[in-house]
Amino acid sequence: MTDSLLPTPSSKSTLIDDTIITQMRTLIGAIKKHNYAYYVLDNPILEDSEYDQLRLSLVELEEQYPDLVQPDSPINQVGDTPLSAFNQVTHDVPMLSLGNVFDYDDLHNFMRRVNDRLSDAQQNPEYEIELKLDGLAVSLKYEYGQFVQAVTRGDGRVGEDITQNTKTIRNLPLWLSDAKDIELLEVRGEVLMPKAGFERLNRLAEENEDKTFANPRNAAAGSLRQLDPAVAASRPLAFYAYSVNQGLPDIIETQSAALAWLKDIGFTVSAVEVVSNPRAAQVYYESVIETRDDLPFEIDGTVIKVNSLALQQQLGYLSREPRWATAYKFPAETVITRLNNIEWQVGRTGQLTPVGKLEPVKVGGVTVSNVTLHNFGEIQRLDVRAGDMVSVHRAGDVIPKVTRVWHEQRPDNSEPVTLPSNCPVCDSPVILPEGEALARCTGGLFCPAQQQEALIHFVSRRAMDIDGLGERWLISFFEHGLVKTVADIYQLHNHQDDLITYEKLGEKSVNNIISAIEDSKHTTLARFIYALGIRGVGETTAQNLAQQFGELDSLMAADIDTLLQTPDVGAITAELIYEFFRAPHNIEVIDELIKAGVHWDAVEQTVAEGLPLDGQTWVITGALDSMARDEAKAKLQALGAKVVGSVSAKTTALLAGEKAGSKLTKAEKLGVKVVGEDEFLALVGD
Ligand code: NAD
Repeated sequence: MTDSLLPTPSSKSTLIDDTIITQMRTLIGAIKKHNYAYYVLDNPILEDSEYDQLRLSLVELEEQYPDLVQPDSPINQVGDTPLSAFNQVTHDVPMLSLGNVFDYDDLHNFMRRVNDRLSDAQQNPEYEIELKLDGLAVSLKYEYGQFVQAVTRGDGRVGEDITQNTKTIRNLPLWLSDAKDIELLEVRGEVLMPKAGFERLNRLAEENEDKTFANPRNAAAGSLRQLDPAVAASRPLAFYAYSVNQGLPDIIETQSAALAWLKDIGFTVSAVEVVSNPRAAQVYYESVIETRDDLPFEIDGTVIKVNSLALQQQLGYLSREPRWATAYKFPAETVITRLNNIEWQVGRTGQLTPVGKLEPVKVGGVTVSNVTLHNFGEIQRLDVRAGDMVSVHRAGDVIPKVTRVWHEQRPDNSEPVTLPSNCPVCDSPVILPEGEALARCTGGLFCPAQQQEALIHFVSRRAMDIDGLGERWLISFFEHGLVKTVADIYQLHNHQDDLITYEKLGEKSVNNIISAIEDSKHTTLARFIYALGIRGVGETTAQNLAQQFGELDSLMAADIDTLLQTPDVGAITAELIYEFFRAPHNIEVIDELIKAGVHWDAVEQTVAEGLPLDGQTWVITGALDSMARDEAKAKLQALGAKVVGSVSAKTTALLAGEKAGSKLTKAEKLGVKVVGEDEFLALVGD
């Protein structure tokens, strides 16, 4: 196996140092690459949660093997080195990142760690909670109330001077009359792009065939770092203030009061809540999750800060983050996990759906262990195999899906997925008609996965019309094992006592059911064909088949070309009918039905006599302007012609539309008459 980006739990204890170092180096390489794409190019390759998982893997390795920590590990690094296009500015006070918590236990532990550093009298301090705005951090400086400079966070120590671009942000105050006496005021906050503006920008970019942005955060970052301030000015950006790092009036003692002051002097700030215990913080966090979609901008969690500014100072900083604050992030909506296996499930109408069996993983707040892969085409599109690491996305109530396959980590011994040739439930052959997305089990009448649906269809009014054997009773008999296939319905009279016992059916009701079943034995061939529930064979097609073949045996024996003679039967339906009658179990059920006494009157076939195209054989090729090929076929058949799929010496004429290919060549070679669309329309009288 190639070096794994994500260490598996079982491998940890046995790996020797070299392997651990290789794993660390692989992770470092990946994290650096993604830092650059995200912070410098504003063009991430991964979802944030996928990136977070890579980081977490490295953190876990570093905690477990502290002696092997690599000197260039990016774990304690903030952001990335800024681009050189802007002037570089060293921050007076470093701009750090935030630690993360993901659930209530983590939050509790964070608050316990805070308590551990406080005196007895200071235990369980008040916390202030803000929204975690998903933009980019910017430091603003005001001298005597006048805006003078804006700098990005950069690598935390040095950022880029984006003063000119920042001036164009409409809600950013350039003059603070209430701060005119403050020599130097440093305000930090987030520049973001509201959702509506982001959508507008991307729509415009699409119309102009320009590059679109992955998300509002990257759009905000990309806009602020435009070299042309006129372009930045055209972008819908907003500034939300969240801290004062220099120049705060002494009388302000808490974070919440600092935000209130910022609002008073002219800044936009977001919602604030003050709580005194982890429970209340959790309740607020959950209420934010509920309402996040209603906010005009994106957030990716809440930020929980010790409210007292004095305590903040006392608690201080780790290398990358403050000890007095943490981000409480929303549950990851995309996570990486292993796809252990692919199983094929058979649906109620016989469709085969591949289901990925995952190493269980929490995504979007719930544990997911299965993911639908939809159909065989999707497996091929994703190029996914059992054993692959995959990214699974789940947002809101939407069903989880595989969004990425980590091909670079594919195990050496993995095998491509093949479509099963036989149904995993009943072993009948599986077909995937050309042009169809879904493979199907052909054992419609027999396959246990399809039986219930087959039974309900069989008794329905337009099929065998077994009035009195309602769906409810039928399902109940099915669940009690009294009927499995549709043929068992005609054996129910042998179980009258059971029917009375189950469901407490009275004798009278049972008699009614039995006589309704008896009555249904006399039917028509069209109804019988429809009742078989062959995919693609609705009532009209069933009637056409009955007319065309007159007898069940000749329909069952028909090959695909013969089936195609039937009006309204195209290539896919012909294949489905053909395969249905090739599944031995279906034949057994049909035999049992006939043996039980199901019968019909002889079909009166209306013989097309004296029609203009009697005895002629036609082939259609290419695209017709005026109608679909099936329609043209029906018109020719109505005039008495046989329409077949391939040209031979016996063919009377070839109807050739646009882009006719090999059939036209063959017809010309064999001297078969070629009819154009106009001539055909004149012939059929349109
Ligand atoms: P962070 O988002 O984890 O937390 C720190 C930042 O939160 C601050 O710098 C500030 O900008 C912001 N913030 C928002 N609201 C705030 C508030 N009310 N108070 C204080 N700060 C607030 O920032 P980070 O260090 O840039 O970290 C990493 C983030 O970037 C993660 O979400 C990570 O997934 C993402 N990232 C993604 C990729 C990728 O490839 N997709 C690469 C690198 C980083």
